[in-house]
Formats: sequence, structure tokens, C-alpha cells
Amino acid sequence: MQAVNGPGFESERKWMVQTQLIPRGISDKLVLDAFRKVPRHMFVPDAFADSAHNDYPLPIGGGQTISQPYMVALMTECLGLKGGEKVLEIGTGSGYQMAILAEIAGEVYSVERLQELADAAGRHLEALGYKNCFIKVGDGTLGWEEKAPYDGIVVTAGAPKIPPSLVRQLKEGGRLVIPVDCGFGQVLTIVERHGPSFKTNEVCGCVFVPLIGKEGWPENSS
Ligand code: SAM
Repeated sequence: MQAVNGPGFESERKWMVQTQLIPRGISDKLVLDAFRKVPRHMFVPDAFADSAHNDYPLPIGGGQTISQPYMVALMTECLGLKGGEKVLEIGTGSGYQMAILAEIAGEVYSVERLQELADAAGRHLEALGYKNCFIKVGDGTLGWEEKAPYDGIVVTAGAPKIPPSLVRQLKEGGRLVIPVDCGFGQVLTIVERHGPSFKTNEVCGCVFVPLIGKEGWPENSS
């Protein structure tokens, strides 16, 4: 555990875990404990603080969203973290997914293409005392090469296909969790690296804003 807790909303967080995560099959104690601890209301605009724990995404500015709590939990659980790992997130957004990861992993790197969102997320994480979160502004479809390899990579925007750069930055046995377009919607996909080959598993359908970049969708997709 890395950070101090924000005041208030403890009962809303417990309610979110009990009614949205556990009944849908989220069972990893590390993930559930992180959701009970991270003050989600501090990652949404003030006007949405009272609805921060509801079962849907919310706007965070720049036409972007903080994902539905269940989807953040599912993607985190799909990484299969045990504690202490090095993790990369693509699509920092509000910084909430980063904080959840930072409660479990040793180091969390995140790339965001929009400067204003990266700045706000950095401020929120710093205010909460996270020392193991590192954000850069850029095209996350190319990963964060200098810090690679990673035990896990989670992409929180929908890709047209699996970006080769991200797969290359996985450690042996590492997992990439990513929403990928299948022609009639997005499928949450896990790619696991085994030597020179990769095992791919499809988890469920999902809806994310587009992953825009060199190995993603073109600029005019947003
Ligand atoms: N993980 C975020 C959170 O916890 O609030 C939610 C992310 S939001 C659903 C998707 C984010 O991906 C947006 O902030 C968007 O700007 C970002 N994004 C889209 N394409 C990107 C790219 N190529 N590199 C980095 N960020 C990207």
C-alpha cells in the first residue's frame, strides 16, 4: 500500500465493491482492497463527486472519460498482479486506474496524449501521496521504451489492432490487457508473452474512447 487515503466516501466505496465488483466475479483481494482504499471521488470533476461511485463512466474533460468502476477492476484483475511489479498504463485520463495499480504494483508508468489531463492526473496523485506513479505526455501506442520491459501493460482506450510496440515491451510471462476492435465493437483482449510467441484470450465486449496514435486510430477518430 502506497498512499494516504482521501477523506470521505468510504461507505460509497464499500457499496461500489459489494454491489458492482463482487457480484460480477471480481475476486482478487488485492484488487478489491485497492478499490476500497482509493478515493475515486477525487479523480472526477467536483460536480460529479456524488456520482463518482455509480456504475458508469463519467466525463473528465477533453472529451474523455474515467472508466466504469467494474471495467477498471476487470482490467486490473486480468493483469494477474501479485504485488511489486512494473506496470505501464496507456491512457492516464483522470489518474484513477493508475492509483488502483499503484496500490498493488511497485512502479506504475502511464502515457497520456492530452497535456491537460496528464497535468491534472499528476496533481491528484501527488496530493494523495503516491510516490510510485510516473506520467509522460506522448503517443502511448508506442509504449514507454526507456522504462521497458513491463510485467503488465493495460490500455484504457480502444485500439484498431494490437500495437506491436506494446507487445515488444512485455517481459517473459507478462500480460497486455487491451480493448481491440473486432469489426462490430471492441473486445477486451489479454495477450500473454511466452518466449517468441504470444497467447491471446478474449474476455468480453467493451466500449472505450479511441486509442489515437501511430499504432492506433488516426487523429480524426475522436
Ligand atoms: N485510465 C483512465 C482513468 O483512469 O481515468 C481513463 C482513460 S480514458 C477512457 C482514455 C484515455 O486515453 C484518454 O485520456 C485519452 O486521451 C487517452 N488516449 C487516447 N489515445 C492515446 C494515446 N495514443 N496515447 C496516450 N493516451 C491516449
